[in-house]
Amino acid sequence: MSINLPLDDNSCGWYAALPEPKATKRLIGQQRADYVVIGAGFAGLAAARRLAELKPQARIILLDAQRVGYGASGRNSGFVIDLPHKFSLEHPDPAHKMKLLALNRAAIAQLEGAVNQYGIECQWSHSGKYQGAVGARGEAYLDHFESLLSELGEPYELIDKNKLAGVTGTDYYNRAIYTPGCYLMQPAALVRGLAENLPENIELYENTAVSGLEKHAQGVKVSCPEGEIIASKILMGTSIFTKEFGFLKNRLLPVMTFASWTRPLTDSEVASFSGQLNWGLTPADHAGTTVRMTADRRLMIRNSYQHVPKYGASITTSLRESIKQDHRAAFEARYPQLSHVPFSHSWGGTYAISRNFTNFFGQLDDGIFATACDNGVGAAWGTISGTLLAEHVVGSSSTLLRHIKEVTGMPALNPPEPFLGVGVKTRIKLAKWQSRSEI
Ligand SMILES: Cc1cc2nc3c(=O)[nH]c(=O)nc-3n(C[C@H](O)[C@H](O)[C@H](O)COP(=O)(O)OP(=O)(O)OC[C@H]3O[C@@H](n4cnc5c(N)ncnc54)[C@H](O)[C@@H]3O)c2cc1C
Repeated sequence: MSINLPLDDNSCGWYAALPEPKATKRLIGQQRADYVVIGAGFAGLAAARRLAELKPQARIILLDAQRVGYGASGRNSGFVIDLPHKFSLEHPDPAHKMKLLALNRAAIAQLEGAVNQYGIECQWSHSGKYQGAVGARGEAYLDHFESLLSELGEPYELIDKNKLAGVTGTDYYNRAIYTPGCYLMQPAALVRGLAENLPENIELYENTAVSGLEKHAQGVKVSCPEGEIIASKILMGTSIFTKEFGFLKNRLLPVMTFASWTRPLTDSEVASFSGQLNWGLTPADHAGTTVRMTADRRLMIRNSYQHVPKYGASITTSLRESIKQDHRAAFEARYPQLSHVPFSHSWGGTYAISRNFTNFFGQLDDGIFATACDNGVGAAWGTISGTLLAEHVVGSSSTLLRHIKEVTGMPALNPPEPFLGVGVKTRIKLAKWQSRSEI
């Protein structure tokens, strides 16, 4: 079996803003473990932590092909959402949506507990979230969003153009809906902080790519470049890369989305910006642009999607440049008074979606379990699904575990290539064109 590995580069601003990481350990030699967790993003970190709590005597090994924070968990826009995204919010059964809300809120409480307990400096803040509409198309989405929130009985505030401009420093948007339950954070700092404060019975090995999993008389053999582990149980928090091990074949779609941010604004630039610090806005029309002003004065723009069958290797230099130009256009349309401020970093990250927007949670094979396919909102979902996967594997029971089993399922099968590639490309292009007034 040949495994394609993550191909993240060193372009991510969140990661670059952190101090150099401490020296890492790689897995070397023959090892035995009770549990091996593969992937140290939100899902894997949470799974390992919960296993350690439930089985304090067990030997738990956590592996990642890269440094912690290098993958999507350190590259995202830093929204820890409570309200599920559009597609899940459209679900016909209100009970289904309340379960998703309860799961996301449990994730937020868990992350907040860790941030406070370990003093993780990651700009963690209870900022809520603005969902912004630029024009008529976005406003129609907002009206629909409002009706969904009302049906659910969830609190929200309608924000008019002037009030929104006072927060965001731009009159680009016509209006927004503010929902209070979202948290903001610096994602690379958060995952690194979580990894630096793992319970003692977890051994973390970074830069240790798993190249194969094989059945073994005592469980499963995990092969790595410089060693191997025989473990009773494997928990996979490998997101889209789960498919590289032959699991969920033709069911996960690898997608990249991209972000750029400025250097921290100077005092005079903050004055001409005329908005507030530390807020986040997502687009009413999901194909639009996410904007954040960080607590440390950087403006961040996120938009553009690409289908990436070869992960990072699917993105050519010229495509990267054209995405950066799209970011620049979105930035200057919102902040013409800051058009002299350059972007200091532009980056992308890979995650998994499925055609039916369904998350996988549970057993893949004898002794092998996974949470995979969060459809792009993995800060909260990865955290709670990783936690509950550990509970599932050790056979414990809880209301949240019951909920997650009820709301997850099997990601739909994709059509075969070349129809898949052409279909996804066309859909992304069409969405970009239809949403051009909202980007
Ligand atoms: C630009 C961008 C913006 C986003 N914004 C948000 C947002 O604001 N909020 C939000 O909730 N989500 C957001 N997302 C999505 C979010 O980042 C992901 O959903 C989330 O990181 C998934 O977490 P995870 O732990 O499941 O997987 P990942 O973070 O992808 O972790 C998987 C890990 O597995 C490792 N791995 C893979 N293969 C192997 C192997 N063979 N051996 C060992 N290790 C391996 C990888 O190195 C990686 O570290 C965004 C994503 C991007 C790219």
